[in-house]
Amino acid sequence: MQEKPTPIEIARQALMQLASRKVPPTPDNFRTVYDEIAGVVSTNETLELAHVLDKVLHDAGKQRPKYIAAAQSIATLIEKKDWSRLEDQLIKLLPLGAAGGDETSWPVVIRNLLKQLEVSHKGVTLTRKKEGLNRVLTNFGSDPDVLPQKIQSLVNSWGQGSVADHVPGDGPQVLEGEAETIGETPTPAPSKSLYGKKPAEYWREMLVRTMELVLIPQLHSLPEPEAKAKQLVKDINAATNETQIKRIAEELKSVLFTLEMHGDQQNRLHEALLQLLRLLNNSMGELVLEDKWLHGQTKIVQDILEKPLDLTRLYDAESSLKELLYKQGQIKPRLIEAKDSLKRMAEIFVDRLAEMDTDTGEYQNKLNGYRDRITSTEDLVELNSVIDSLLNDTRSIGLSIQRSKDALVDAQQRADEAEKLIDELTRRLDHISEVAHEDYLTGTLNRRGMDEAMEREFARADRHGTPLSIAMMDIDHFKQLNDNLGHATGDQALIHLVRIVKYSLRNTDVLARYGGEEFIIILPSTKQDEAMDIMKRVQRDLTKNFFMHRNERVLITFSAGVAERLPGEGPETIVPRADAALYKAKHSGRNQVIGAEALLEEPEIREITDASAAEANGNNAA
Ligand code: GH3
Ligand code: MG
Ligand code: MG
Repeated sequence: MQEKPTPIEIARQALMQLASRKVPPTPDNFRTVYDEIAGVVSTNETLELAHVLDKVLHDAGKQRPKYIAAAQSIATLIEKKDWSRLEDQLIKLLPLGAAGGDETSWPVVIRNLLKQLEVSHKGVTLTRKKEGLNRVLTNFGSDPDVLPQKIQSLVNSWGQGSVADHVPGDGPQVLEGEAETIGETPTPAPSKSLYGKKPAEYWREMLVRTMELVLIPQLHSLPEPEAKAKQLVKDINAATNETQIKRIAEELKSVLFTLEMHGDQQNRLHEALLQLLRLLNNSMGELVLEDKWLHGQTKIVQDILEKPLDLTRLYDAESSLKELLYKQGQIKPRLIEAKDSLKRMAEIFVDRLAEMDTDTGEYQNKLNGYRDRITSTEDLVELNSVIDSLLNDTRSIGLSIQRSKDALVDAQQRADEAEKLIDELTRRLDHISEVAHEDYLTGTLNRRGMDEAMEREFARADRHGTPLSIAMMDIDHFKQLNDNLGHATGDQALIHLVRIVKYSLRNTDVLARYGGEEFIIILPSTKQDEAMDIMKRVQRDLTKNFFMHRNERVLITFSAGVAERLPGEGPETIVPRADAALYKAKHSGRNQVIGAEALLEEPEIREITDASAAEANGNNAA
């Protein structure tokens, strides 16, 4: 029986997998790959918890709509992983007694109410008290979470201040009308409590959380400082006096110093590796001067190295490289074969020459022998036999020479053909990095192919005076799909999407991969409204045809911006118009198709572009 790998072995393999799939080693990615290797079903607890929370709040929302609003804002906070604001939101949802003290628990409130109803308050008659109470009940009766608090505020307003301590007639009066606007229980003074905790406790918790979530993970490769930081967390939790806090501050300073040094070292290491790659790439470029087909590859790496590193650009470059390698991989073996066959021809040529040389050498020797025998003999019979032999040998040397000549002509011909083939294949290889039109992963047109298709279709539209629209689509939350299921599954999802889109489009429509998970569709002879309908149909087809991952349905959606071409308009303005519409589709909740404005006013373009850039940067940073 095969032994089960140990957790350490699984973890090691998981890290290697992450590296080879070029997936960032975030905790979520690590867990997914770990589970994959360990053969357990991977669940995203955060997503599942979020799902449960959402369902509970929506159910509760059927009675009280405020929970629906809370569900929406909580979903956003979970998506942004903003845990501290999530905590605040959840605390706000708790019934008051659970979050704060018990001054507003029902028994206390009712007792106070009864007591203060009977006590006489200056300027507040019993009738006014009852009216106030009625108003509070009308306004807040359906919300038992706030009702006791509101009643307590009302009661407080009669006596102004703590009801229990109230001395009738004491101090200025606050009328219940004003109490309604004052409304809430007074905000607790910060020195008393924050969410029921003392400020020091709150700070302590924040420090511990920062250490556990940010600092300690960064010390992962440094066992000693890591252990020290973990001990420090324990000390922080246990610290009760100033001396201990001072000692902790010193220790923390030293851990932070180590971390900074380590960070510096990592940065230098990173820079040195990049430098090494740059050198390697440059020298490769020089080494392969005559192999032009390699230049496309070195150029891609060079482009990456010239700018700050960024994951999306790395992925894009990876897929261009794969595309090149794939194409070259198809042509390269035939080139090698042709070169081999040329070499074989040359070998035959030399062999034949050598044979001819031996044959003629032997013939020469024989001729010399016959000449000697002819000179020395007087015997006619012998002379006759010498001549016979001479004739035979002459005939056979003629045959041998003819054979060699035929073989040489044949070899020559085949060598010519091989050379032509080599020329042709080399030419194709040289151009392939410049003229590849197809995207390697999805088989759609690539950027270059798209440029040509646009030129062609735009010219056709001009010639026939027909409309034309383009759609720009971008998969929704694709980064999340990559993070949750892995980059390789992301690739499969892209292939699936392209299959459905191609199936759904008409065969005159042209699909091109614009980059990453963005696609452009050219819809000839189509006005904007019709193009939008077509894109909506594509959306429906995509929701009907799930992407399957490990027998689970994964829903992929996309947002799209559609723009109809204005007469004579070129790609440089229609593409940004479609892009701006796509941006709007993203911001109106995604999974939408939005039509472009005919003309974008300058400031709007600028605003949208800035915002897109900011968002793109945000995504990259994430
Ligand atoms: P949004 O709804 O705003 O578009 O969210 P998003 O997560 O899709 O955001 P964005 O478009 O900025 O991110 C696209 C991600 O797609 C970034 C990159 O990780 C991923 N990606 C790009 N190209 C490929 C690819 O060829 N394969 C895979 N698996 N992922 C890719
Ligand atoms: Mg995108
Ligand atoms: Mg996207």
